[in-house]
Amino acid sequence: MRVVLAQPRGFCAGVERAIEIVERAIEKYGPPIYVRHEIVHNRHVVERLRAKGALFVDEIDEIPPGAVTIFSAHGVASAIEQRAGERGLPVIDATCPLVSKVHIEGQRYANQGREIILIGHAGHPEIEGTMGRINGRVHLISQPEEVARLKVVDPDKLAFITQTTLSVDDTRAVIEALKERFPTIVGPDTKDICYATQNRQRAARELARMVDVVLVVGAPNSSNSNRLREIAAESGVASYLIEDACALDPNWVKDASGVGITAGASAPAELVEELIARLREIAEIELSVLAGVTENVRFRMPSQLSDTSS
Ligand code: SF4
Repeated sequence: MRVVLAQPRGFCAGVERAIEIVERAIEKYGPPIYVRHEIVHNRHVVERLRAKGALFVDEIDEIPPGAVTIFSAHGVASAIEQRAGERGLPVIDATCPLVSKVHIEGQRYANQGREIILIGHAGHPEIEGTMGRINGRVHLISQPEEVARLKVVDPDKLAFITQTTLSVDDTRAVIEALKERFPTIVGPDTKDICYATQNRQRAARELARMVDVVLVVGAPNSSNSNRLREIAAESGVASYLIEDACALDPNWVKDASGVGITAGASAPAELVEELIARLREIAEIELSVLAGVTENVRFRMPSQLSDTSS
């Protein structure tokens, strides 16, 4: 069986930074360190950090006064930040700088008196954070069909922004529908979709052309991992999103001559290694890696942790 690995796959710079922030904070301040929400969408990452001394909570009010608090890579609403301030919590912000960039962009458009159309998925923490960062009216949509139903105050005073982990093609279709109905709308095109998402989607599409089955390693609640599975499926191959090697059903691959593997931006490399080992138990494999872009993006640590190393 040919097994082909997508390149790039797995951790992005925002996820690496968020994990490193938690590790460095535990080292500097000692456990426990409180983290609001899953630091990134991956159970394995969360469990590993929990074992080191991170405590994950849903609400700021669960954190005892004075305890070091980390905001997750997905970002938080201003009200959460304010609440943490009221409770006197020393906060370290692990929001991915590319999510923060969208927050700033949204607020800049709102300051121009524009209503904001946010393209993204309801209920995702990044969307809750972004909506809660913009002072002004925000409409959330995810499909082109929703554009016709939008009720806006002034059709000539609009801007759109997007979630960072959307499908580039699907987002383009929504933007086109927006521009058709509101020709003067302004926005960043698909540039809010981050480099890591775009690179992994391009690689997944290429991978799907070479194999019969694509396995995407990632969490069920990971937006970018779900998009990778959809992109491979749209290319016409069977495609499965699995959390780890244990979730692999041998029937999926037993008749395949080529199996492709990719991983979402929050999936650790060892999960891919374990999946390869599992495939080796099922069949003799010939492993190759797609030629693809090498990512050199690295984000700076927050000032509180810039003097530490992990
Ligand atoms: S997927 Fe993109 S936006 Fe999200 S953490 Fe990674 S680099 Fe940042």
